[in-house]
Amino acid sequence: MRIDSLRQRLRGLGALPRHEERVLRLWSQGLPQDAGRRRIQDFLPRALREALPAIERELDALARLHSVHAGTDGSERLLVSLADGASVESVLLPREGLCVSTQVGCAVGCVFCMTGRGGLQRQLESAEIVAQVVLARARRRVRKVVFMGMGEPAHNLDNVMEAIELLGTAGGIGHKSLVFSTVGDPRVFERLPRGPVKPALALSLHTTQAALREELLPRAPRLAPDELVRLGEDYARATGYPIQYQWTLIEGVNDGDDEVEALAQLLAGKYAVLNLIPFNSVEGLAFRRPGGERAAHMARTLHRRGILTKLRQSAGQDVEAACGQLRVRVQPPASR
Ligand code: SF4
Repeated sequence: MRIDSLRQRLRGLGALPRHEERVLRLWSQGLPQDAGRRRIQDFLPRALREALPAIERELDALARLHSVHAGTDGSERLLVSLADGASVESVLLPREGLCVSTQVGCAVGCVFCMTGRGGLQRQLESAEIVAQVVLARARRRVRKVVFMGMGEPAHNLDNVMEAIELLGTAGGIGHKSLVFSTVGDPRVFERLPRGPVKPALALSLHTTQAALREELLPRAPRLAPDELVRLGEDYARATGYPIQYQWTLIEGVNDGDDEVEALAQLLAGKYAVLNLIPFNSVEGLAFRRPGGERAAHMARTLHRRGILTKLRQSAGQDVEAACGQLRVRVQPPASR
């Protein structure tokens, strides 16, 4: 279900813009079935009020919780079943954050990613993306949504932007607390500045070397790292939010002093935060995470060179943390 088609359906039942907003708020904020909710419903046109229980049942059926896997860091990985039997992962993060998926599978094929190994199975529709937030809100408060789960949001731009627009309005999430995470695609830099809700942007950089980046992200658009950073900087200055550069740290691949030096030069003076994320081991892949001291040394060196650098861990490392691992374990893709 697309949010646009849901809006049209509500209008067909007599909803004025304020009614439409109320129904979408009830749903996307996951407001409880209490007297306050009933009061809101009482002010809806009769045809809409009568149709609402059936519409809500349809919305509830978009995404159901298959299983919950708690991490020791306060995160919870949620395996979410969709109406057609496909499944995706969402991750409840510490500090009221939620990471959602935007596709079933992914076509970019990053060599270090489990989701990338199975290829793209299908796009998520905008309502299925919001439904992950609704499910999560039934468990905990959610004030930040990062589009960093399975899938490349730039490959499903219309649906992701519809979900962002809803979450940033009726969904009650601050615009800079919506984080669009991408490997970088020219369409993103054209589209995001024009939207009514402008999310923050996370760019997966991973290396300063164009040729290595093509190897690591084989089906990402051919944007050289310096071009990616130039486009990111324009967006950061236009929105007033820093770009979050993501760097999956892999031993012997992108943890050398040459990368540290090139990175210090590439990001010098940029309105940016660099997130160094040590790689999570994936069964069947030869990549390794660097030792803790090496990662800490890189972060310290970059920090001294004036680059705001954070050494992060993926949430829920102890529960199949790399993107797509949980789903693969519970539901192996046909291609494996
Ligand atoms: Fe796709 Fe992200 Fe995995 Fe790359 S890391 S294959 S973009 S899901």
